[in-house]
Amino acid sequence: MKDTKLNTSIEFIKGIGKIRAKILKDEIGVKNCFDLLNYYPYKYLDRSRFYKINELTDSNIYVQIIGVFKNISYKKSGNKYRIEGVFFDGEKSIKVLWFKGLSWIEKSIILKSKYVLYGKLNWFENSPSFIHPDFEKFESFRKKSINLQPVYSTTEKLTNSGISNKYFIKIIKALFNFLGNQFDENLNESLNKKYNLISPKLAYQNIHFPSDKKSLEDARYRLKFEELFFNQLKFKLTHSMVKNNSSGYYFPNVGINFNSFYNENLNFELTSAQKRVVKEIRKDFSSKKQMIRLLQGDVGSGKTIVALMSMLISIDNGYQTCLVAPTEILAFQHFNNIKNSLKDLAINIKILTGSTKRSDRRIILSELFDGSLDILIGTHALFEDNVVFKNLGFAVIDEQHRFGVKQRSKIWKKNNPPPHILIMTATPIPRTLTMSLYGDLDLSIIDELPPGRKDVITVRRKDSNRLKVFGFLKDQIKKGRQIYIVYPLIEESKKMDLKFLKDGYESILREFDQNKYSIGVMHGRMKTPNKDFEMKQFSEGKTDILVSTTVIEVGVNVPNAAVMIIENAERFGLSQLHQLRGRVGRGKYDSYCILMTKDKISDEAKIRIDAMVETNDGFRISEVDLKLRGPGDILGTQQSGILDFKIADIIQDENILSDASKDASKLLKNDPKLILNENYNIRRFILNNPINKSWKEIG
Ligand code: ADP
Ligand code: MG
Repeated sequence: MKDTKLNTSIEFIKGIGKIRAKILKDEIGVKNCFDLLNYYPYKYLDRSRFYKINELTDSNIYVQIIGVFKNISYKKSGNKYRIEGVFFDGEKSIKVLWFKGLSWIEKSIILKSKYVLYGKLNWFENSPSFIHPDFEKFESFRKKSINLQPVYSTTEKLTNSGISNKYFIKIIKALFNFLGNQFDENLNESLNKKYNLISPKLAYQNIHFPSDKKSLEDARYRLKFEELFFNQLKFKLTHSMVKNNSSGYYFPNVGINFNSFYNENLNFELTSAQKRVVKEIRKDFSSKKQMIRLLQGDVGSGKTIVALMSMLISIDNGYQTCLVAPTEILAFQHFNNIKNSLKDLAINIKILTGSTKRSDRRIILSELFDGSLDILIGTHALFEDNVVFKNLGFAVIDEQHRFGVKQRSKIWKKNNPPPHILIMTATPIPRTLTMSLYGDLDLSIIDELPPGRKDVITVRRKDSNRLKVFGFLKDQIKKGRQIYIVYPLIEESKKMDLKFLKDGYESILREFDQNKYSIGVMHGRMKTPNKDFEMKQFSEGKTDILVSTTVIEVGVNVPNAAVMIIENAERFGLSQLHQLRGRVGRGKYDSYCILMTKDKISDEAKIRIDAMVETNDGFRISEVDLKLRGPGDILGTQQSGILDFKIADIIQDENILSDASKDASKLLKNDPKLILNENYNIRRFILNNPINKSWKEIG
């Protein structure tokens, strides 16, 4: 694209200039012609429909009427003048008002001549009027034959700088003039034929200025297909290049560590899903290629043990291994569990987090470097450049949706060739999302819970029933169970941050006699040793009730905890609720999740609560979540960029995604390096397009 006009700064488009170019760049990131061309309208107003004044109701927002001005006259209120016009459609009249540019209005309007009036209806004392509508001679309107008028999203700053919708229409028209016939075809002929795709030029013209609904649909289809196709191609290309190019560590042996753990220390039978996944990983380990595998499994499905056994294989083959968790609490929990599980084996295991003491850190780094440390568990502190392994062979990343892509890639650089990678995620991601996020990343799914697990009985209780709930808690404690009570964090307001927790804690103290009950409290702002202490007390059964914020959300595992109370449950997102619920139902006891809410909650909150009450199935939950929030939110801002599609919508366009994915696979199978003539365009687009810069690094 170096030599095409698409790279030209928009400054040189007629009507833009330096100043506005800068505003457009700052406000909406539109820098060059390519960006502007791809700044699609977010909706279209139907200008093929004409209204009669008689049928106007307040539900019509923008309307268009044909008629004549019967009269215009100056009016004065205070010392301000306005023009009032009377516009007549043959049956009825409507008032039209102007407050600015009066002399121009007066000069322009020709009475009794046919006009198209177009604007937002204004309602005053039950009668409609227009304020500053567009108007145009009927003859010239007819010649232009616009049916659907594009509406571009603007910001307040843009509008204030005179960059209105009208202005967008003007500069995009100028852009088409400037570009002439320079529209690259990025796909190949067989795809165009197979899906009947219209030409790129037509697609761009019709997405901005559609002549009718059908041509808009065709344009959309083409652009969506192209976008999703390149999304899929990118993943598959990266993946296949990685697979073909980067050799991986060869772990042929299942040795003493794995075997003695499996035979002597594992005190339960693996589920068949777990066995299957271990097999999949072992196969990758002996393929001599790098493994990049996503392990999905609902909360409590037993991903950790699978990871641990794989780590033992790495050690058996003489390679170090690490496990990265998103929070310190979780890292410590993994550390304690794993250390305990491996206590009979001669394995050196350490933990590294942001709060590791300097002296300990020095020891860890030196053991890591000389190879005497076998397993390093930690938080993102482990990504830092000065954490150097002697020979890292395998890295496990837990709860990966919490890490940014950039962070994740740091682990790759810890050895050369890069280590095998297992990414574990407890938040089940719907299939469409996985596909558009990871492309062909190898996927393992644990779709079976360990035996004996029962669904967590989930109910909604209103604040007004609190006393009954407290009574229930006392019963449970009498039976020997433990309880979590979770309060929301109010992230927007630093001051309010811990208010819910504090108030809640105090009310629990009032209700539960301290001589009889032991109550702990934990939140993210506490120092690590204090958090560890609270967590330890709870996991050893010394605390009956743990009052907490969502710091316990991920991964915490205390099988004796049988009740999860979520306060202000209406404030939590669905996946968070599901994660929290996953903290209970981990032992042999009947478990409960009680969603406390205000008496009245919003419709959307109700959908979330109902979904929780209805099902324990994480995949179902994630589908409801995806529908409610859209993909960007589900992944958090860190990753939403990956899903920043310009036009495609991975939920609505699931079928196009699926087609595009199949075609991308087929194409790469025939032409893995994209060197065939027929795929020249595709290759050129990938190598030259600014949005694909990162692909360049790949090859
Ligand atoms: P998650 O997939 O959410 O990370 P964990 O790995 O923490 O789940 O496992 C949850 C609990 O289930 C742990 O206490 C673990 O020891 C136990 N567990 C895992 N696999 C099995 C199994 N096959 N049979 C019985 N218990 C199991
Ligand atoms: Mg886990």
